[in-house]
Amino acid sequence: MSRDTTKNENLGTRLRAAADIAEAAAKAFRAAALSCTLHNLKSEDFQVTDIPSARVSDIVYDSGMTNGPGRAIYDEIMDGRDENLCPMCRHTEVTQLDHVMPKKAFPALCVAPDNLVGVCEFCNRTKGDDVTEDAGKVLLHPYFEDAATERWLEAEVTPGGAGVLRYFVAPPPHWEAVFADRIRHQFDFLKLGKRYSSKANQTLSGMRQHLAHQLRTNDATGLRKYLEELAASHRADDLNGWAAVAYSSWAADAAFCQGSFITL
Ligand SMILES: [Zn+2]
Repeated sequence: MSRDTTKNENLGTRLRAAADIAEAAAKAFRAAALSCTLHNLKSEDFQVTDIPSARVSDIVYDSGMTNGPGRAIYDEIMDGRDENLCPMCRHTEVTQLDHVMPKKAFPALCVAPDNLVGVCEFCNRTKGDDVTEDAGKVLLHPYFEDAATERWLEAEVTPGGAGVLRYFVAPPPHWEAVFADRIRHQFDFLKLGKRYSSKANQTLSGMRQHLAHQLRTNDATGLRKYLEELAASHRADDLNGWAAVAYSSWAADAAFCQGSFITL
């Protein structure tokens, strides 16, 4: 038997053993995601015995999934969504597949379906392959740890800004400190404040004339009520969406409702 044949057979044996490792890793990952404790996972517990992580990624993910028989699963994850908005930022369209736990540091999760999420180019590039030791800086799993049922995003009208908003994170007080830190970090890291403010400003630019008409016709109280209705409608779609928070923040600002948003 040639040296190469022996080497390949050894790799085959190791890869077959890797299937069991990957299955156990996927289960541990799902349990951590379900309990919002992804920050407790350690890279050393998600290695594939005897195979370097780069090799696992080449064989299993690149050759096996993105360019191999698993391509249908890849396409299903990318396309099988009701909406095409990136679940990490809820701001930009999905264009890429991201490993929630980076495949370089967590090779045993490189094809775990729960670890693969379609995201936008900005979030994927910003996130990169970095792994942090700081629990408060572990990014949230967009599906399991989405924090969508409680309000944590707020905004306020900036002084003299004609309705320009400043977004910030205000986690509910009963949240665990580490989870609140994670959402604050995610907000800063993915530059959500700036991105949401820009969206709200763009929306306001297109509505300024309409809102001024509402104010003239129905006075400040009528305008506030109208903005509250828009906020409620957007909240029903996404409680922490930038639009729901924008309308409720404009409605809550007395100067805004009296016309501070009107520019000459
Ligand atoms: Zn994104």
